Amino acid sequence: MTYFYYLIIFTLGSSIVSFLTVVAHDFPKIDLKRRSSCDNCHTILRWYELIPILGFIFIEGKCSKCNTKVPLIYPVTELIGGMFFLTIIIQNRNLYMIVPVALMLIFLSFMDHYYGYVYSLLYLISLPTYLYAYFHNYQLHLIIGFLVYSVLIALNRLYNNIGLGDVELIALLAILFGLEDILKIILIACLTCIFSFVTNKKRSFRFIPYLTISTGIIYLISY
Ligand SMILES: [Zn+2]
Repeated sequence: MTYFYYLIIFTLGSSIVSFLTVVAHDFPKIDLKRRSSCDNCHTILRWYELIPILGFIFIEGKCSKCNTKVPLIYPVTELIGGMFFLTIIIQNRNLYMIVPVALMLIFLSFMDHYYGYVYSLLYLISLPTYLYAYFHNYQLHLIIGFLVYSVLIALNRLYNNIGLGDVELIALLAILFGLEDILKIILIACLTCIFSFVTNKKRSFRFIPYLTISTGIIYLISY
């Protein structure tokens, strides 16, 4: 019974991530009735191809009609999403503190990945977490968030190479995680960004996906 419960949590987590990927891909044009299809030939996917992770394995990573490769990022993020939700349930973590922020970070990561910018309005997804934090003595962190924001905006004026979305998101995370952990988050994000630059030789400066990965790592290690 327990394993069945875990399987449901895992499937739910990976399905949520899969859903957020699709919505971020189409944003702001959201059509929930739209059937998922191949990006290349637009063939509608069959029901079993929609199952998180397994669908990718069934079709051997390529469209059954036109053989276009399905990016590995989809099953990998579904796997990470499933594992993440499973971990917070098994370890009985505070869902208010992490789930809304996690959903926001995942959504913004894909949006940043697809379009290279994010809408500030989407920060509202994490509102339940911030309300919870506000009523549980995180007021001091508000000052830290404001300081981090001011420093980064000043750096942005000087060098003009940090995205405004990145600055806002880092400041928001600083409110939750405090000064020490936000510095660790930025450091790990920079290291993974450099690693992916060296291994892929792609000059991608879309930083939010890296921030999301490093926030997940710091959260699971230190909270
Ligand atoms: Zn196709």
